[in-house]
Amino acid sequence: MSLRFSVLASGSTGNAIYVEADDKKLLVDVGLSGKKMDELFTEIGRNPKELDGILVSHEHSDHIKGVGVFARKHKLPIYANEKTWLAMENNLGTIPTDQKFIFATEEVKSFGGLDVESFGVSHDAAEPMFYCFHHAGKKLVLATDMGYVSERIKGTIKGADMYIFESNHDLNMLRMGRYPWNVKRRILSDVGHVSNEDAALALSDVISDNTSRIYLAHLSLDNNMKDLARLTVEQVLKEQDMPVGEQFELFDTDPLKPTPLTSV
Ligand SMILES: [Zn+2]
Ligand SMILES: [Zn+2]
Repeated sequence: MSLRFSVLASGSTGNAIYVEADDKKLLVDVGLSGKKMDELFTEIGRNPKELDGILVSHEHSDHIKGVGVFARKHKLPIYANEKTWLAMENNLGTIPTDQKFIFATEEVKSFGGLDVESFGVSHDAAEPMFYCFHHAGKKLVLATDMGYVSERIKGTIKGADMYIFESNHDLNMLRMGRYPWNVKRRILSDVGHVSNEDAALALSDVISDNTSRIYLAHLSLDNNMKDLARLTVEQVLKEQDMPVGEQFELFDTDPLKPTPLTSV
């Protein structure tokens, strides 16, 4: 089985990303209710009972809302680093010890032939991390919830075949919008979220000849729009002489609709 994925849901209303390869099936984050998660799995033709584990990126509610219920219902192992476990444990309800596992930051864990590499990000959570998925020479990067994209992160995520990448807000919409100033300052800070422009600039540093698809993810409902995100990222990439629309394409993700299961 090739490396495949679906962004089941993405955004501040809830995140969940499905990844499979080599008969192993993983879910990153469960930011929606257990019931909605079951519906999303039906839509991509997969059964949550077949999952080999839930990976948790960080303890913000848009990433863990459904973790406890979903893990109990389908008897799934949960993987998170120690600080994330401490920060989220009280919000999960009781999880049997045999379903709790540590997945440290900057560790590679192998699920059959699917290798998952975690890397730390700058974001206002206990110890947030995201992942590179490796299988049969293919590389898929999942990176959202980043205050900024450091050179260290760029080194880790360089040269992937596909990216699921944060494109959180349009700077002008955020500046002009209704959010209180302290919230705006948090989003714009080094531990907040990546804007459309900054996403494009970071991507232009990591894209390589084999990159074929980029999914713009974790769009703000209040401070972004799908078309605006895509057009802004496209324009900045073109300004950087990147072959957008030729070698690789940009794709939308949705808060409640899964992207079709796609081979990397
Ligand atoms: Zn988030
Ligand atoms: Zn977050």
